[in-house]
Amino acid sequence: MPGFEVFGDEEKRQISDVLDTGVLFRYEFGEQRKNVYKVLEFEKNFASYCGAGFAQAVTSGTAALKVALAALGVGPGDEVITQGFTFVATWEAILDIGAIPVFTEIDETLNMDPEDLKTKINDKTRCIIPVHMLGAMARIEEIVAIASKHNIPVLEDTAQAAGGTIKGQHLGTFGNCGTFSFDSVKTMTTGEGGMIITNDEEMWRTMSEYHDHGHDHVVNPGGRGGEGRRFVGFNYRMMELQGAMGIAQLAKLDSMIAAQKNHKAKLRQAASAIPGVQFRSLVDEEGDTATFFAFIMESSEQCQRINAILKESGVGAINFSENSWHFYPSWEHLMKGSTITASGWPFAEPGGKRRVVYDPNLLPQSADIMSRTLVYPVSVKMSDEQLKKMCDALGRAATA
Ligand SMILES: *Cc1c(COP(=O)(O)O)cnc(C)c1O
Repeated sequence: MPGFEVFGDEEKRQISDVLDTGVLFRYEFGEQRKNVYKVLEFEKNFASYCGAGFAQAVTSGTAALKVALAALGVGPGDEVITQGFTFVATWEAILDIGAIPVFTEIDETLNMDPEDLKTKINDKTRCIIPVHMLGAMARIEEIVAIASKHNIPVLEDTAQAAGGTIKGQHLGTFGNCGTFSFDSVKTMTTGEGGMIITNDEEMWRTMSEYHDHGHDHVVNPGGRGGEGRRFVGFNYRMMELQGAMGIAQLAKLDSMIAAQKNHKAKLRQAASAIPGVQFRSLVDEEGDTATFFAFIMESSEQCQRINAILKESGVGAINFSENSWHFYPSWEHLMKGSTITASGWPFAEPGGKRRVVYDPNLLPQSADIMSRTLVYPVSVKMSDEQLKKMCDALGRAATA
């Protein structure tokens, strides 16, 4: 899973190019930067890799979600639908823009259940955010079809699935836009960083301005100080060192995915001996990035029994029902509406009236699937010994 496993001379060379100019800022410094524009180059490479028209780099995957939501015009009074199994960042961004997160069930893809999505859409819904969790695709074509019927934009949270595809088409290009994260544990990493891709030039222009205090980036005699602004923005600018890392890491992404696929196939082979085991449904197995291996048992008791044996063998798997960062009922701060604001915003209106109360038992189908699912992170570099240890433990668990 983590791109830091393959840091090498390519990253060092890219970083040196930046240090040689001394320019860490993506804009301005015309003469001094000797035509080195790493963030711009990373955006161009990333858009072209994904087959998207435009890319906007930002400071994180969370910022990418926020900037995309802003550009889609989402704000207070709106609802945004996402799935109840995701990283907290997805709904943090929705709350931060002033909208209310509404959660759908997941199905055996471990991503948004399109059938449940249909029941959650209402006249306040302003955006739908399917998340391509654990390296693989949601039923994105079905989701986009449902959304278009209602004329609602789709933002694909592709933070965990850079390089993933369906029939060769990159995840992040099915909806109106796709967001990515390059934080320290993502498959390709710039330390911290994010990206939004879109085919909509006007949306890209809005994001480019919003992420940089509203700067319109139009060439003028006064330079940056003379630029105009159409609206108030914020600062989510990526810096040149991150852009440099991104160029080097993107060039390695396909080979990282290939290595992960190879490791995942071995784990899958070993786990297939577990009685009644099912694997996570993949819309297109070819397009899986294989950053995680998820296998689903028949009951939660069986799941716990199997994981106890894996733990005894020193290779316990993740059960996301027990993990407090990725699954709806475990987000106690969301459930309780914990916030640092005196007014209670964003969970309460400025007058103190609660805007939304979440029920921890809202998603029984997701809770059932999560309680039966075990997950291994798959790395780019896994030693034969490590893999053997895991496969042997899976074999033991299968016959116990
Ligand atoms: C990592 C992640 C994010 C946030 O990315 P950061 O770069 O850490 O801000 C958003 N959504 C999902 C699903 C993630 O896994």
